[in-house]
Amino acid sequence: MSARPRAAGPDAANQPPPYEGRNLFDCDAALRAGVAAFGAAWAEDSLRAFGAVAGGAEARAWARDANRHPPELQTHDRYGERADTVEFHPAYHALMALGCEAGVHSGPWAGPRPGAQVARAATYLLFGQLENGTQCPLTMTFAATPVLARHADSLPALARDWLPRIHARAYDRRFLPVVEKRGATVGMGMTERQGGSDVRTNRTRATPLGRSGAGEAYRLDGDKWFFSAPMCDAFLVLAQAPGGLSCFFLPRFLPDGAKNGIRLLRLKDKLGNRSNASSEAGFEGATAWLIGDEGRGVPVILEMVGYTRLDCVIGSAALMREALAQAIHHARHRRAFGQTLAAHALMQNVLADLALESEAATMLALRLAQAYDREDAGAVALRRVLTPAAKFWVCKRASAFAQEAMEVLGGNGYVEDSPMPRLYREAPVNSIWEGSGNVVCLDLLRALARERGGTAALEAELSPARGRDAAFDAFTLRLIADLPDAAADEARARGLAARLVLAVQAALLLRHAPPEVAAGFCASRLAGADGRVFGAQDGVRAGGAIVARALAD
Ligand SMILES: Cc1cc2nc3c(=O)[nH]c(=O)nc-3n(C[C@H](O)[C@H](O)[C@H](O)COP(=O)(O)OP(=O)(O)OC[C@H]3O[C@@H](n4cnc5c(N)ncnc54)[C@H](O)[C@@H]3O)c2cc1C
Repeated sequence: MSARPRAAGPDAANQPPPYEGRNLFDCDAALRAGVAAFGAAWAEDSLRAFGAVAGGAEARAWARDANRHPPELQTHDRYGERADTVEFHPAYHALMALGCEAGVHSGPWAGPRPGAQVARAATYLLFGQLENGTQCPLTMTFAATPVLARHADSLPALARDWLPRIHARAYDRRFLPVVEKRGATVGMGMTERQGGSDVRTNRTRATPLGRSGAGEAYRLDGDKWFFSAPMCDAFLVLAQAPGGLSCFFLPRFLPDGAKNGIRLLRLKDKLGNRSNASSEAGFEGATAWLIGDEGRGVPVILEMVGYTRLDCVIGSAALMREALAQAIHHARHRRAFGQTLAAHALMQNVLADLALESEAATMLALRLAQAYDREDAGAVALRRVLTPAAKFWVCKRASAFAQEAMEVLGGNGYVEDSPMPRLYREAPVNSIWEGSGNVVCLDLLRALARERGGTAALEAELSPARGRDAAFDAFTLRLIADLPDAAADEARARGLAARLVLAVQAALLLRHAPPEVAAGFCASRLAGADGRVFGAQDGVRAGGAIVARALAD
């Protein structure tokens, strides 16, 4: 049989070259501006070096392979003994090693200095353009570390055996007791079958093995319905102790080297996030050590959740950035009706609108990370209010964004040869875990009610941008005036979160982005509907300049 004739080579077939071999830091003006504005200019060289690796063909092939060959559960070994392990494709391990070597899991804790959270957030933004499943264990390790450090006095093994290995920029894939490893990772187990958001319904029981109290050993029995990255070396888990819901440190191996009673029952078959193993787990007489006091489990683990939510924001900003870059790259190369797609006015409007959204998300993510760099009252108040609001809005926008960016590639964007289906499937998860949309919006209301300086911190964030754009001034005046009423009305919580984030994003762009970007954002987002389709507003002025800035050639 003779093959059907085809145009020879990608150029002749009007097919764009792959988007790879780019330095993801150099080609992203918004990221560079945020890094400089929020105190991490000192990290530029390492970010540039990491940007080259994350944009390189080899790492991109790992990302593809790690998702095409999902993890496999091994419940038993060949002799019928419990194994409770997960096997991953080598590409997964290569990505984990890359992330750990770049300090994605540990950066600010291992080397604290002003701007360290921003530098780490920028690294995470670059990593998130590459692959998202491996972000789960990297984030959980990053987020658990301050909790472990805070409670290290009551549990000496944390400071002696665990923190040095968590801080190490080393990934050690071997399933061994932590003292035999070079590096360690930490996961989290809260969600049970009968309730995820409402963890008060947790049924896993914790019984003291001897004395009770902080740092003491307990026996755990029960199940976790979502238990991601189960090959982590230890977990922070919630369980019901005699004194109420409490937080425990649960290692995979006991101090004598025996395996702990953690059974991996099943791996979830997920929409996206496929390189990451998310298991259902059972605890059968597992030994865990109490972190904090009995009954204080939620406040203890909430410190970790603050950081995982920060990473949801950064991760969604990264996903949007990758989708945007893929879309612009394609539109610059693909021709239709006599010119490149990017040259058509309506396509330019779509791309410019996506670019505005992406730049606003990037700036917000970095600014939020900066609020975690500082411990003054204003920074603490700002992060308590802004973290749940940003988690709601930015993660929600990512799904619509991924769909629109996919469409820029036409039919080519819908097939698995393209990276767009992976981005599209990945997008919703940041909105669901670590507090789904409604739950984080209710947290915003709680933060506004409890955090005395919350409104003042918000006003301080907005006021330096006043007087630069009439739509911004009017929008923020209304927002601040509405705050007391809106914050007292559960049903309005989503609307409030959206308005609050849009105001902060606009303020950031007015202060740190070129005038056409700030003006385009204010004109298109502060004057009317937020839930509209990308590119449907009446033309972003200077769309060509906005798209040119968004992706340097
Ligand atoms: C891929 C993946 C991996 C995960 N990994 C982990 C993990 O490693 N560890 C872990 O502990 N969990 C993990 N989770 C679980 C995740 O955190 C929960 O699914 C999430 O918190 C929601 O809980 P739920 O599924 O029980 O939903 P529910 O709590 O039943 O909530 C369902 C819906 O109701 C809404 N809702 C809840 N309460 C209210 C209210 N008061 N008012 C209005 N609306 C409300 C929520 O916003 C949500 O939209 C993972 C989830 C996924 C998808």
